[in-house]
Amino acid sequence: MSSPLKLISTDFDGTLHGEYERPAIPERFTSLIAEQQLRGVKWVINTGRDMSSLMEALAREHVPVLPDYLVLVEREIYKHDGVRYAPVEEWNAACNRDHAELYARVRPQVAELMDWVNGRFRATVYEDVWSPFCLIAGTNADADQIHARLDEFCKPFPELAVVRNDVYARFSHVNYNKGTALRELSRMLSVTSDEVLAAGDHLNDLPMLKTEHARCLVAPSNAISLVKDVVRRQGGYVSELTCGNGVAEGLEHYLGRLR
Ligand SMILES: [Mg+2]
Repeated sequence: MSSPLKLISTDFDGTLHGEYERPAIPERFTSLIAEQQLRGVKWVINTGRDMSSLMEALAREHVPVLPDYLVLVEREIYKHDGVRYAPVEEWNAACNRDHAELYARVRPQVAELMDWVNGRFRATVYEDVWSPFCLIAGTNADADQIHARLDEFCKPFPELAVVRNDVYARFSHVNYNKGTALRELSRMLSVTSDEVLAAGDHLNDLPMLKTEHARCLVAPSNAISLVKDVVRRQGGYVSELTCGNGVAEGLEHYLGRLR
């Protein structure tokens, strides 16, 4: 039997993977994915993590299924070539070039921004290879206030966006996020949004939780209320179950398995 879906895009932390759940990634989800992959459905983990941190988390869980694709740091696309995850060169090169050009213009003003944060909050700020400004706030309330300042900072740079996930934030280029990466992957696979499912729990998932990218939208019960509202408003499925069990239930819903 064929599947109504062709592409399944899941966030990792808080969506598939429950930090305080055992197992962190439930069998109910992995067995569904294994079955869908046998029917030719492609699975992408669409995450803010980088390669080593995602590989470590997957290995630690002894996940019995492999994603066909990865979207890492909410921007780069990788395809499993049978041996390893290989970069999708054209997209990733454009992504790197656009970020380098933008960050060269932004960087001279970042020290002042870091001073502003350090003078008002107990927070960790740093630069890494992905962003000239990265934040780990002490609390979500602090992160909300700093987020407002970051939005102000972005105003003179129309291509600059804030990517926020819980107490974490960094900058990115507006053309690269979980949504545009999912759109590119759909284009590569010749899949229409009607055949795509996307599942997420936090702010950095909002760009992909749109029916223009995925007709089937899923949020687990632990998703933040804004995400649940966005999913509900577009006719998506909000589960009463947490993390991977919630995503599995959403998948079953769209596969017509729930009564
Ligand atoms: Mg998440």
